Amino acid sequence: MPVRVAVNGFGTIGKRVADAVSKQPDMVLVGVAKTRPSFEARIAAERGYPLFVGGDGRVEDFRAAGITVEGTTDEMFKRADVVVDATPDKMGKEQAPRYERAHLKAIYQGGEKPDVAEVSFNALANYPAALGKSRVRVVSCNTTGIARAASVLRARYGVERWEVTLIRRAADPAETRKGPVNGILPTFQIPSHHAPDAQTIFPDLPITTTAVVVPTTLMHLHVNHVRLRRPPASASDVIAAFQETPRFHIFRSWERVEGTPQVLEFARDQLTPRGDMMKNVLWENGVHLDGADLRFFQAIHQESIVVPENIDAIRAMFNLAPDGDSSIAVTDMTLGLRS
Ligand code: NAD
Repeated sequence: MPVRVAVNGFGTIGKRVADAVSKQPDMVLVGVAKTRPSFEARIAAERGYPLFVGGDGRVEDFRAAGITVEGTTDEMFKRADVVVDATPDKMGKEQAPRYERAHLKAIYQGGEKPDVAEVSFNALANYPAALGKSRVRVVSCNTTGIARAASVLRARYGVERWEVTLIRRAADPAETRKGPVNGILPTFQIPSHHAPDAQTIFPDLPITTTAVVVPTTLMHLHVNHVRLRRPPASASDVIAAFQETPRFHIFRSWERVEGTPQVLEFARDQLTPRGDMMKNVLWENGVHLDGADLRFFQAIHQESIVVPENIDAIRAMFNLAPDGDSSIAVTDMTLGLRS
């Protein structure tokens, strides 16, 4: 029997997770929830996703707009084994009692505090920790990028210390109410919240993070300086290590990818759904090794990087795959991430 998955909140993350669930051989999408009629609700209905009304939304408003809905989220929850909460930041915690009353397992996103779940999750880093669990939190986009890179660097070379400067996008492309539209905003708290978040996955990771927000919607960019315990002979070894690992894409220098605009142009040219880039993106000519000091850039597509992790989290919670490698193999095949 496939696991029955409901997605509560059909925004940036929820709509992508719903599409990904619908491609899995061992899962079935039983519903998605929106609060108001909108173009996204219309697309959910056109895609044949059972649509339900969440929050303070009203069934009659959807029907007045000509959008078919099957009822409220309480009805959606009755049809599911697990709910992927993709409501806005901090709202997942408010929803938690409803999921518990419905005896549902629940996945939360990175906008929630870690204590909303039994474990914070990244498929490459700690898949076994989520096996059989009822409440799992998929860490944020930036932390997902850090956790993936940490999985590679810790295992191969050991990490003595790690400093990351996160150059953060101001808003997602469809968000019109966020900024800045002109200016650079430092986050004065050091470390920024990203280092403690990465330590919810790797508690002993010696990492510190600083962050600035810049007026772009395309991606985040991490500037990394890592002191390795057992440095390899050359930067090529590090590049090979990333290349051998799923969910990394390394651009060659001859590809002339100058920055995030070309990364997403590449994704669009590949005809990936929505032009998404679910892998960590590195540049061959952006990886430098000087003794034990490794420096590298990586770009993170905030809208999509956590999508495969949500799928792997479901697999772990229902023991559908015994280890991260086997779950990642299925997820990446179905989402077109295997090169
Ligand atoms: P979003 O605002 O794009 O989508 C949230 C959706 O939930 C909207 O469609 C909204 O209408 C709906 N909603 C609001 N209240 C609801 C309710 N009571 N019941 C059902 N639906 C409701 O937000 P998002 O960017 O998709 O973020 C969702 C979560 O994912 C947050 O925790 C966020 O921190 C995390 N996340 C976001 C990004 C990103 O860059 N967008 C990246 C990684 C993780």
